[in-house]
Amino acid sequence: MALVLTHLGRERRGLTQDAKTKPIHATKAARAQMKSHPAARHVEMKRRLSEDREYHFQRGPLSLMRPAVFFDRDGVLNEDDGYAFDPDKIRWVEGAQQAVKAVNDAGYFVFVVTNQSGVARGFYEERHVRKLHEWMSRELAIVGAHIDAFEFCPHHPDGLIERYRVLCNCRKPQPGMIRALLERYPVDIDSSFLIGDKQSDVAAAQAAGIAAHLFDGSNLHAFIAPLLKDRPLHRVQPHSVRVDGG
Ligand SMILES: [Mg+2]
Ligand SMILES: [Zn+2]
Repeated sequence: MALVLTHLGRERRGLTQDAKTKPIHATKAARAQMKSHPAARHVEMKRRLSEDREYHFQRGPLSLMRPAVFFDRDGVLNEDDGYAFDPDKIRWVEGAQQAVKAVNDAGYFVFVVTNQSGVARGFYEERHVRKLHEWMSRELAIVGAHIDAFEFCPHHPDGLIERYRVLCNCRKPQPGMIRALLERYPVDIDSSFLIGDKQSDVAAAQAAGIAAHLFDGSNLHAFIAPLLKDRPLHRVQPHSVRVDGG
């Protein structure tokens, strides 16, 4: 955490330049201020984390940055049988688990971004979506694969359930879910991509500045293998790079 935060807004706090090559030293005035208001400094840093993301992630320690693969869920990881939420009825797409493992092994983050309007429509509840994702994680663990984060959008503008009946910015083709993940993880955007099975997936990725590929529905591992660039330098412990304080 300290390593990350030293690079945030250093000019504003009166820190001297050139953090890339030299350790950062606070000026006398800044040291005095931090000493007298340590709590205030922490709050200020948290507030600045989001707006300074670009500055931090681009100029921060390179070892923190990793590319990511954003997977759509239904029709990419599992067969799209329509509003699936029961693990007993889930069928993995051929090569899906091996695909996630390959992405893990290549040093990328693995994220899932999925529209779940079945929640707004009253077909199932958010807890069912979470339970299914936990089940998927357990299944993946058996083959040594893992997903770093799931994001789902429970909304729909025509939903039955009132609190989910909204025009949100997370339902694809809006980029809200991807953007939320980019806020929380140090993602190397230029080397990242999304795999979807619909045009709305591609549109969401493009709106977030991420490359996208339309999955042809065959074998996901075979599809993704040529798209991955091995990044052995980036094989760090997946949880050591979180910057949202857990
Ligand atoms: Mg889909
Ligand atoms: Zn939404």
